[in-house]
Amino acid sequence: MNPEILIIGGGVIGLSVALELHKSGVRRITVLEKGRCGEESSWAAAGMLGPQAEANEGGVFFDITVASREMYPQFAADLLDETGVDIELDRHGTLYLAFTDEDVAEVHKRLKWQRKAGLPVEHLSADDARRVEPFISTDVRGALLFPDDWQVENRKLLAALNRYAEVNGIDIRENSAVEQLIVKNSRVTGARTATDTFYAANTILATGAWTSLIKLGDADMPLKVEPVRGQIVAFQTAKRLFGHVIYSRRGYIVPRVDGRILAGSTTEYAGFEKAETDAAATALRQMAAEIAPNLSSLAITDHWSGLRPFAMDGLPVLGAFAGISNLTVATAHYRNGILLAPLTAKLVADKVLDNSEPSYLTAFSPDRFRLRSVGKVS
Ligand SMILES: Cc1cc2nc3c(=O)[nH]c(=O)nc-3n(C[C@H](O)[C@H](O)[C@H](O)COP(=O)(O)OP(=O)(O)OC[C@H]3O[C@@H](n4cnc5c(N)ncnc54)[C@H](O)[C@@H]3O)c2cc1C
Repeated sequence: MNPEILIIGGGVIGLSVALELHKSGVRRITVLEKGRCGEESSWAAAGMLGPQAEANEGGVFFDITVASREMYPQFAADLLDETGVDIELDRHGTLYLAFTDEDVAEVHKRLKWQRKAGLPVEHLSADDARRVEPFISTDVRGALLFPDDWQVENRKLLAALNRYAEVNGIDIRENSAVEQLIVKNSRVTGARTATDTFYAANTILATGAWTSLIKLGDADMPLKVEPVRGQIVAFQTAKRLFGHVIYSRRGYIVPRVDGRILAGSTTEYAGFEKAETDAAATALRQMAAEIAPNLSSLAITDHWSGLRPFAMDGLPVLGAFAGISNLTVATAHYRNGILLAPLTAKLVADKVLDNSEPSYLTAFSPDRFRLRSVGKVS
């Protein structure tokens, strides 16, 4: 029997959309995944849920990141209940450290706008920062504390989403690379792999960095999404040394409950080549040592890379193409796909089931690039 909904791509976005649709009552859902579910960008991420730490201004993108962060406590509790998997939502908060004059200026700028906007943020002196995190460098000149910027163990999140699919009869087809969406009379009716054809009432495209490689009927996908490589290294300590996620302007460290410390990340334009380079390992170690000099003596125990999905303006792409029905796109989450997964899933499910069009979908419409190029929007 044909599925009601076909989801292409089994990363955090595709699997979260599958979960949300299932909870809304859809029973025949098929996920087509070119490799294995949850082994691409979503696996490589650091799991930070930090809308405030990196934001220099408010606006609609900031609003969706905050709204999605607020969904996490319930999302985590429900997943634990439904799958038995604890995604390790960690609410210690995030510290942002200043070392240089430029860092100090940035900290003040960020503090000013976020306080004005009524957001939870505290300014810490160097002494207070070191009281909060005793292992950070004595060179620190001050810090911001974002109590509501959290983290999750994204690999456990993927395990929970996979488990949810498994126990609820969501049909997952791995090693099924979609080459083409089938279009009939401006309506998407399904998708083709090299060996199979799948028909469905609705199709959702959640293919991350690979989205532009899929054909829309006989035409190219009218959307440019590019891979931006990120590398992370990890150190292992016997017990957890840091409570907070800790940023500087040059990178971040993320302490996990099992004593691992992640240090990330690079931003590289290397096409679809996932690779771990010595140059990145050296740079990430230096970055981490600036935050906490003790880290320079630890061996790197793990090193990986992933491909972030990046659209031309760095913002997510959510919703439908004008003039093409029964297709919803959910891609280009770039640096924030883990953070944005619960809200993206809700927006996509509402769009598919109720045809609702909240302002977020208008702001992140896949048509915004096409319209811009013909001068219809600025
Ligand atoms: C180093 C690094 C650190 C990051 N840190 C964070 C962080 O701290 N917080 C945060 O929120 N985000 C972070 N991100 C970003 C986050 O990982 C991504 O935004 C998110 O994973 C995107 O999810 P996705 O499901 O769209 O993509 P993916 O996880 O890449 O999933 C897309 C899936 O689609 C499949 N696919 C592609 N083409 C096809 C096809 N033709 N047919 C079938 N299947 C197909 C792929 O195999 C893949 O499994 C980080 C990313 C990197 C690389």
